[in-house]
Amino acid sequence: MHLRWDDETEKFRAELRAWLDEHAPTPETMAADPALSASHYPSWARPWQRKLFDAGLLIPGLGPEFGGRNLGPVEQLIYYEEFLARHLPRSTNWTGVSIVTPSILDYGTPEQIERFAMPALRGETSWCLGMSEPNAGSDFGGLKTKAVLHGDTFVVNGQKIWTSGAHHSDWVILFVRTDPEAPKHKGISCLLVDLRSPGIEIRPIHELVGGDIHDLNEVFFTDVEVPADQLLGPLHGGWAVSQGSLAHERAILWVEGWFLAAEALGHLAGLAARPDDIGAGLKHDRRFRDIVAARYIDVHAMQCMGYRGFTKSMSGKASPEHSILKLFASETLQNIDLAGIDAVGAESVDCVDLQHYCDHRYYTGNWVMSYLGSFASTIPGGTSEIQRNIVAERILGLPRR
Ligand SMILES: Cc1cc2nc3c(=O)[nH]c(=O)nc-3n(C[C@H](O)[C@H](O)[C@H](O)COP(=O)(O)OP(=O)(O)OC[C@H]3O[C@@H](n4cnc5c(N)ncnc54)[C@H](O)[C@@H]3O)c2cc1C
Repeated sequence: MHLRWDDETEKFRAELRAWLDEHAPTPETMAADPALSASHYPSWARPWQRKLFDAGLLIPGLGPEFGGRNLGPVEQLIYYEEFLARHLPRSTNWTGVSIVTPSILDYGTPEQIERFAMPALRGETSWCLGMSEPNAGSDFGGLKTKAVLHGDTFVVNGQKIWTSGAHHSDWVILFVRTDPEAPKHKGISCLLVDLRSPGIEIRPIHELVGGDIHDLNEVFFTDVEVPADQLLGPLHGGWAVSQGSLAHERAILWVEGWFLAAEALGHLAGLAARPDDIGAGLKHDRRFRDIVAARYIDVHAMQCMGYRGFTKSMSGKASPEHSILKLFASETLQNIDLAGIDAVGAESVDCVDLQHYCDHRYYTGNWVMSYLGSFASTIPGGTSEIQRNIVAERILGLPRR
């Protein structure tokens, strides 16, 4: 089977490539001044995001007023493929562009869209996501950070944890309990909070793969005052807001997992071509060949499943494939990393280069760091165990535990 796009689609790809050739920051520019967290804008990143916004290429499925050009799903898929092929981020504040602004566009008042979403889209402000708490991760509905309305001000007390990029953010989209008497999911609201407000303390969490820099934080709130007009969505309606975020791009987000796994697989297979003892040994190692073949099948299955789900969603049908793909992609990547560690042995520990890993979201050739970093895919956005529960209950129709 040979998969290919039609001529019209390839024409769009060629135009996009030409535009990127002319305007995108070079790999050297990005490597010389890397993003230090999920909310950090290095020197080149704000002008780049603004350029994409002005060209209608920031979130291409949205209208021109929001930095898009109303592109259809196929063009959006091509867009993703081209950015991934260049290791090019559309924004270094992924949370702001892919989670926060779509939520504000969906639930915000026209004033909130103008005041909060537009500067985030233009790269003028950066945002982080305040959902998880020490006892409310998978069980998000168990969150305890509370906000009490006094006149026209909410007063917030509590703690968030694992907040990516909080130390580089201007604002946080914060989920709080506003009705302690209501059933868990019904008493939650969403507030847009200025991180420079008095009463907020941000403490770093130093990471296994972090070296001197860090992404994750704890954020403490003590009597923090938030104007009531910064409530996003209905009071006690925060659960629905938390389920939003780029629904229209969901059918193509799998492309990233597939792309990264295919790239890592290329590095794995390439080990047998090394002109040294490791390469010579692997070339004739049947176990290694079997492992590469098994991972190749996984990566190919992922691609086929992704396209099948994509085709279904384009014709308005449910696409359970996409629920399976997050789990499948993140665990396939992890398995490829483990195979790499196994293949190169002690060398995978010797060449640990922390700073280098942190500077790039993409695979660097360092198997141990890549493996340790891979848990950043199997935990956030629903852990692998939670994904298995979803597949079991919603797709296979098995009874709830
Ligand atoms: C790199 C990274 C970045 C993150 N960024 C953010 C961020 O920016 N903002 C934010 O709010 N949060 C963020 N998180 C937090 C993330 O959303 C949570 O870690 C995740 O939801 C899991 O919650 P938890 O850590 O409390 O683990 P728990 O929910 O306590 O889970 C512990 C273990 O129990 C398992 N488990 C839990 N419930 C079940 C169940 N019902 N059935 C089977 N197994 C279960 C889990 O799979 C896991 O293995 C980030 C996490 C990571 C790793």
